[in-house]
Formats: sequence, structure tokens, C-alpha cells
Amino acid sequence: MKALTVKPLSAGSAELSDIPEPEPAEGSVLIEAVAVGVDGTDQEIIEGAYGEPPPGKDRLVLGHESLGRVLEAPAGSGLSPGDLVVAFVRHPDPVPCQQCAAGDWDMCVNGRYTEHGIKGRDGFIRERYRVDPDRVIVADPALGDLAVLVEPVSVVAKAWDHIERIASRATWKPKRALITGAGPIGLFAAMLGAQKGIDVHVVDRVTEGPKPALVEDQGWCYHSDLDQTEEGGFDAVIECTGVGPLVFHAIEHTAPAGVMALTGIASSDRKVPLDASALNKDMVLNNTAVFGSVNAGRRHYEQAAEALAKADPKWLERLVTRRVPLDRWQEALERQPDDVKTVISFGDAP
Ligand code: BGC
Ligand code: ZN
Repeated sequence: MKALTVKPLSAGSAELSDIPEPEPAEGSVLIEAVAVGVDGTDQEIIEGAYGEPPPGKDRLVLGHESLGRVLEAPAGSGLSPGDLVVAFVRHPDPVPCQQCAAGDWDMCVNGRYTEHGIKGRDGFIRERYRVDPDRVIVADPALGDLAVLVEPVSVVAKAWDHIERIASRATWKPKRALITGAGPIGLFAAMLGAQKGIDVHVVDRVTEGPKPALVEDQGWCYHSDLDQTEEGGFDAVIECTGVGPLVFHAIEHTAPAGVMALTGIASSDRKVPLDASALNKDMVLNNTAVFGSVNAGRRHYEQAAEALAKADPKWLERLVTRRVPLDRWQEALERQPDDVKTVISFGDAP
């Protein structure tokens, strides 16, 4: 069967390979791929900057934002042929550490977790794959192939969940949220904030293309300059760019007792001077909490699926700016100016 594979840490090694059918040892549920989203992590792996093949192999099957259709599932697994499923990206480490042992694999502390399509485990850009029944959630068929958005939404569902847990240190009545970056992660962070009844502001440097309208059509505020947001500070901030200078600028816009989640990573050599003592003083005197957030646990996938079911399907449809068949994978991975989310499609959409 066909699969998109790379030799991790070797730029330009991506190719459509012919690989064997998934081995039963990979899991008892056989799934056919329906759609797989691509993101910055896939780009980095293709550019040779990230990624790790499964043990004993030199190539990795790419793809972690999955949507598939169950072909075979064991009796009593709760899954039936035809179910649309989204597989968890991360598996707990083999030790397991205290977090993985408690089912919080997204909080793994020994670094020995594996991730489909990223770290030590084949991904989902292949015609068929296998996982165990406890490694998937069932998607609402009403979402069709838009359920491929569950994984990227789960990443910001976790950020919001942790913002709320951290904020519960004191009284928490968030009125305004700031999201930096209007890519898919930023737009989903805004969607979740708005669903919580919070006044959402999104900052991105672009003034053209689909992003400003995707924000404004939902009644959220779009700003191309962080300093154009009104005074007062934001109770919740979700940083989705990873661009160092913007990260530190956004901390200054966090309201007293506010909580800020860092979710982005960017490779940049740009250095900016930072008055670390002034930043420290501000954070101390304002009880500011800033934390990092990666990956997602089961409850975040469930929260993501619920949020997508509540979202405006026409808006979600506008977010998926390109669907590209597997044979044209190169096109899918070439960034185009109006891209928001690109999806690789397999066969007929549900
Ligand atoms: C994925 C996460 C993963 C992270 C780091 C992201 O693109 O969505 O699930 O943990 O990359 O590998
Ligand atoms: Zn662990």
C-alpha cells in the first residue's frame, strides 16, 4: 500500500513509498485512512529538522492529524466497521512515568513517549493502519471529513483546560482573551474561547488573505498589531506563533492574575534585548502565570470533538483551504499564500 515516508533528519527524503500492510502487533483495530491534516511539525520533519523513525527502521510514515474509517474491530471493543475515528498522536512511555501511568501521556516527564508520524512510531499518511481500541475516539459522522480537525483542536483544548485549572488558584471570571497567530491553532483557540463566552481578540501580522475575515465574520476582533488592542490586558492569553519577541510582548498584555499558555514553536535566530528584571517584577506584582503546553490527552480530544460539533460548519469548511489527494502530496506540503489548513484526502469523503 501507499504511504508518505521520510528519513528523519534528512532533508528532501520524503517520498511516496510502497509499504507492507500494518502488522497485527500495531493494534487490533484495522482502519482505512480518510483524511490527514498537515501542519508545521510535518514541514519541520520534511525539512530534516525533527522526527525519529520507529525502532530498527530508517524511514518514518508521516502524518499525525488523522481521520479514518474502521474496517475491522474486535468484538466488545466498542468500535464497529464504518465508525469514523481519530487516533491519539501520543502513546505513553514504556516505563511508565507517573504521568503516563495515570493516563496523562501528554504530560510525560521522561521524554520516552512516542508519537505517530513524529517520534518513534509510524503515522497515518498510509492507506491503512492499526491501533488498539483505547487509542481512538469516535467522531460524529455529521462532521464528515471535517473531523480531521479534532487533533489540532485538541492541542488548544488542552491549553484552555490548563488555563482554567491554573486560574482556579483564585476567582476566575475571564472577560477578554488574546490569541496571537491566526493560523489553524490560533483560530481554534479563538473558537474555544468564544464558545466559553469570552470576548476574543486575535493578533496576526497579515492584513490580507482569508485570516482577517475568518476572525471578523465570527464577531471576534482582529488586530494586525498587538499594541492596537485596547488597554486593560487580557485574562487569558494563548500564544500560537512561537515567535520570541511576540511571546514576550504578549506577556505584557496579560491582565493582573491572568494566565498565558505558550503553544507555538518557531525556528528563528532573531535575538531581541529583554529586560529580564523588569519582566520578573511585572510578573511577580501581577500574579502572572505563563506556562507551556504540548500535545493532548483523551479528555482534550473529547472536548475538541464537542467543540467542533457546536461550531459553524460553513466556517470550518472555509478553514480547510485545500484538499489534496495522496498522489499529489508534494502540492499539499508546498505552502501557498492563502493556506489555512491543508488536508491530504484518501478516496471518497464521508
Ligand atoms: C502535534 C502534537 C505533538 C507535537 C510535538 C504537534 O504538531 O500536534 O501532538 O505533541 O507536535 O511533537
Ligand atoms: Zn511518561
